[in-house]
Amino acid sequence: MKIGFNEATALKCEGQSLMADLEACEKNGFDYFEMRFDCLAEYVKEHSLEELAEWFENHRIKPWAYNTLEFFNQLDSFQTMAMDWHLSWIKEVCNAIGMKMLIAVPSFDVGLDKTVEEIKHEAADRLRYIAEFMGPDIRVSLEFCGCPNCSINQFGTAYDVVKEVDLPNLGITLDTFHFHEMGSSLEDLKKADPGKIFVYHLNDCEDLPIGSCGDDKRLWPEEGVVDHGSIAKVLNEIGFDGVCTIEEFRPEYYRMEHKENIKKAAEVTRAFVNKYYKK
Ligand code: ZN
Repeated sequence: MKIGFNEATALKCEGQSLMADLEACEKNGFDYFEMRFDCLAEYVKEHSLEELAEWFENHRIKPWAYNTLEFFNQLDSFQTMAMDWHLSWIKEVCNAIGMKMLIAVPSFDVGLDKTVEEIKHEAADRLRYIAEFMGPDIRVSLEFCGCPNCSINQFGTAYDVVKEVDLPNLGITLDTFHFHEMGSSLEDLKKADPGKIFVYHLNDCEDLPIGSCGDDKRLWPEEGVVDHGSIAKVLNEIGFDGVCTIEEFRPEYYRMEHKENIKKAAEVTRAFVNKYYKK
């Protein structure tokens, strides 16, 4: 299985930048790179997308996904307009550098007057629009978040939305922290089409009551209580073969030296895939 790096992992380390991340990831053997919107926004203040495309052409590591289209559902008209602008920018970036994936995160705190069914149908409408906007060459991956107040917070619910839309370029992100945090079901994962799992985010979680953890409670894989063995067993059984991408947000890891953070991220991700996946 190929390994990827998400820029959240070293985001607040001293000396971090898009280029610093890319150079360190290339050096440490990552295959793919998930780019954050804020890191890219900093980069384009002084560089062009053409420069970035040229960098990728001359290096081994390849762009994997754009992180993130945040809060795509339950929007008012102004928010919808702003999202359209963001989508146009993402499409321009994807086309310029040959990136083929957009990760989309659902809205939080949408009120208690909407049922899960209502939320699912509205999200399906929005995602159909987004997937069609991006076009068939760019995949859109719905990332449910394991928080009580996220409008789509379990694997099964997110997968229902993906099934309802039923477009080849719409799939799901399986983030192991989020999977654990709202008690997503392995039975739901077993029923999933492996080809619909577009993104696999790797991390772990402190031993705290489920649903109570913020992203800062993430840990390096296998240092916490996420049942990685069972998740990996199901992914192997259903025939998943994708990219395993490390994604941390831990303040303690931000205090590491930037190079050390990425070196460690590569080591733990490689060890993880070697342990659980054959190829
Ligand atoms: Zn994630």
